[in-house]
Amino acid sequence: MDLQQRVAVVTGANRGIGYEIARQLAQRGVHVVITARDEARGLEAREKLSQEGLSVSFFPLDVTSDESAQALATHLQKTFGRLDILINNAGVALDKWVPSLAVEMDVFIRTYETNVFGVMRVSKMLIPLMKQHGYGRVVNLSSNLGSLEKAGGFTIAYRSSKTALNAVTRVLALELKHDDLLINAMCPGWVKTELGGEDAPRSAEEAADTAIWLATLPAGGPSGGFFQDRKPFPF
Ligand code: NAP
Repeated sequence: MDLQQRVAVVTGANRGIGYEIARQLAQRGVHVVITARDEARGLEAREKLSQEGLSVSFFPLDVTSDESAQALATHLQKTFGRLDILINNAGVALDKWVPSLAVEMDVFIRTYETNVFGVMRVSKMLIPLMKQHGYGRVVNLSSNLGSLEKAGGFTIAYRSSKTALNAVTRVLALELKHDDLLINAMCPGWVKTELGGEDAPRSAEEAADTAIWLATLPAGGPSGGFFQDRKPFPF
């Protein structure tokens, strides 16, 4: 099947890396459902991409809400009858460089709500749509800060949430390997966004490259991996 007939969902696509991944997927002909928790911001992103002549639509999604994820699954089934690509991009970093013992438990819980449970919630609702057609590409936006092999101190909630996300990625990939479902995690590098900050050396345009590669892998491509710059990165 051509990319032109494929349907993708990008979470947290109203800005940053998610917006850019949505743009680059749509530039390849994929129909991209832009999702965002703030409807006005999501509609604005859809409008900007539509003005570039890209095939995009919008549906609200807060990854911390079961109802919201269920409504998206219903919408996809009714409107397209399929889902081919899922980019789990929405993420928060609430404890940047805070000493571990000073991180409030509420911050820990909110970080996991989005970065781990949010990905699992959306995957639970949407991967069944992929299984209907025996095809799917799932890309989870992780971080090299989640690598245990490269671990350092500080930022414990964010780091460990991405470590957990890598584990979720590996387990799902192994379990679903019978269909043409390829599920991978990646680090986009240090990227100039609201999350990455002004000093980051990399643009969102560059950061999207590995995500697009993983989202369009041919059958038999890697699954359950963790990548940066299209190369395996240590777990
Ligand atoms: P960003 O500019 O802060 O964008 C984050 C996006 O996630 C926003 O659209 C935000 O929506 C959305 N979001 C947050 N919570 C959400 C929720 N509950 N439901 C739905 N959407 C939600 O961050 P970014 O730099 O583009 O990061 C994208 C991903 O890359 C994240 O998973 C991040 O951990 C990962 N990453 C980034 C870097 C970096 O250097 N930037 C490095 C490694 C990994 P609102 O606009 O409503 O807040």
